[in-house]
Amino acid sequence: MYRTFVLTLKNTNRFNMYRSHNCGELRVSDIGNKVTIAGWIQKGRDLGGLTFADVRDRYGVTQLVFNMDENAELCTQARKLGREFVIQATGIVRERSSKNANRATGDIEIEVTELNILNESKVPPFTIEDETDGGDDLRMKYRYLDIRRAPVQNNIIFRSKLAIETRKYLDSQGFIEVETPFLIKSTPEGARDFVVPSRLNQGQFYALPQSPQTFKQILMVAGIDKYFQIVKCFRDEDLRADRQPEFTQIDCEMSFVHIEDILNTFEGLARHLFLHTLGLELGDFPRMSYDDAMRIYGSDKPDLRFGMQFVEMNEFVKGKGFSIFDAAELVVGICAKGIAEKYSNKDMKDLTEWLQRPQIGAKGLVYIKYQEDGSIKSTVGKFYTDEELKLWAEKFGAEKGDVIFVLSGEAEKTRKQLNELRLELGKRLELIKPGDFKPLWVLDFPLLEWDEESNRFHAMHHPFTSPKKADIPRMLNGDHETMKSLKADAYDLVINGAEIGGGSIRIHDRALQSKNFDLLGFSKEEAEAQFGFLLGAFEYGAPPHGGLAFGFDRLCAVMNGQSSIRDFIAFPKNNQGRDMMIDAPSSIHDSQLKELCLDIKTQKM
Ligand code: ASP
Repeated sequence: MYRTFVLTLKNTNRFNMYRSHNCGELRVSDIGNKVTIAGWIQKGRDLGGLTFADVRDRYGVTQLVFNMDENAELCTQARKLGREFVIQATGIVRERSSKNANRATGDIEIEVTELNILNESKVPPFTIEDETDGGDDLRMKYRYLDIRRAPVQNNIIFRSKLAIETRKYLDSQGFIEVETPFLIKSTPEGARDFVVPSRLNQGQFYALPQSPQTFKQILMVAGIDKYFQIVKCFRDEDLRADRQPEFTQIDCEMSFVHIEDILNTFEGLARHLFLHTLGLELGDFPRMSYDDAMRIYGSDKPDLRFGMQFVEMNEFVKGKGFSIFDAAELVVGICAKGIAEKYSNKDMKDLTEWLQRPQIGAKGLVYIKYQEDGSIKSTVGKFYTDEELKLWAEKFGAEKGDVIFVLSGEAEKTRKQLNELRLELGKRLELIKPGDFKPLWVLDFPLLEWDEESNRFHAMHHPFTSPKKADIPRMLNGDHETMKSLKADAYDLVINGAEIGGGSIRIHDRALQSKNFDLLGFSKEEAEAQFGFLLGAFEYGAPPHGGLAFGFDRLCAVMNGQSSIRDFIAFPKNNQGRDMMIDAPSSIHDSQLKELCLDIKTQKM
């Protein structure tokens, strides 16, 4: 019944329709047919006797041709078509004499018999083609024009597909999608809140959620044992290319699970998404402790697409009279394969200067070149014999042609600097294969982080993260130093050096949660005022639970080999947090301010 109905409807429609085909689907097999398409004029070309126009919609571009000899009036009309005019054209599909192999419709064109201008357009402020001359702000201001461009459109279509596949997978695993409120009160995830004044409760404010963390935990207490939501989160942070004040997470929580269950479920999600959007089978999901990641890569999100693991050198470089190494807490290096001859003194100088920029702040760079002819060139030849430098090579597995780069200083800083150098060399030496994806679970994060500036502990993940079971007694009874060594049941999924998601097993015991708030510097009253609802819920049979969230925008970007999330968001904000298209934020009317009981003088006009 249903089928017949649809067919009938389509047939009826044929007599009064905007288009019989879209701009991406006509092929040689359609030659001779009468068709109607509709779309935007991308480009026109007037060759005297013949006028051509490319029409675009989201499916592709089709060439129209108008013949002066056959229909002078139509041809004259076609010559007046401007870029981005919206048109409808009817005509006969013909084989093209000069074919365009780069275009799916490149073998055909439509010889137009009827042209209908549906709407005119001003000249667009930038070219609406794959490569555009529009700068970022201009593209954002006219985002509706930018989204007409295939690369941006493809990103948005990809995003839609990813969301649909996420729902399919999580549904197949028994997850329930639950919406949680946007007008809530502050949840501390380490960023500033966006706040919304309440008119009905004057002088009081809602906060927009930094994540639905507390709500999803409450849902576990409520018995929804597998929850998910593709949800907006709001964090008032300074912006970088991969940050937006509002961003989207695939947010999940599960009850009665061990870490293993969570890692398996979400490895499954990642595999499903790669397979069903990119058609790619992901390889292994190795696991590494946070401590190892920091020691071997100087980063809690190592990029495993290339090697260059750190080699710690204290043991064999100290005590030889080189005061810089002797004074350093850590001497550590990496080996770059096969660049000894290729990398000139100038390259070395460039690299050193790059490392010395304030963003990285290395004091200097020591390098040892193991030349193809067996000789060794180094910046520390005065202090170390060739024999000693050969021993270094052994420790690094370095061979003729390789270069060892060494940094030294305070351990944590030096590791971070060497991580930057490793990533930069990865880029400069083109060690990363396009289309390669290397996932990694990083586990066993510290529970707390001591902040010298504010003189207090911060939660490394968030305040609801559980310490490892074995560490609970130390957490309850230990001294200040002990707290620094507590490990959490927290994990991050990293792909290609980008943090795709993170989560933890949560505390589900009221006393332990109170202790954690206490360690984080909340007074009893503060904890009660801010989280009384959660602590209260924990008194009514909270099941053991845990979860995680994937950064949805970031996942889109990483899967497409891009570093900025902005082009995967239909309407993103710029680096000042502004929406250039609607020009927000903006001032509001005095009467609105009054109604909200806000001080009118604070408003910037
Ligand atoms: N709420 C956490 C976040 O936004 C994720 C989690 O722990 O599930 O990072």
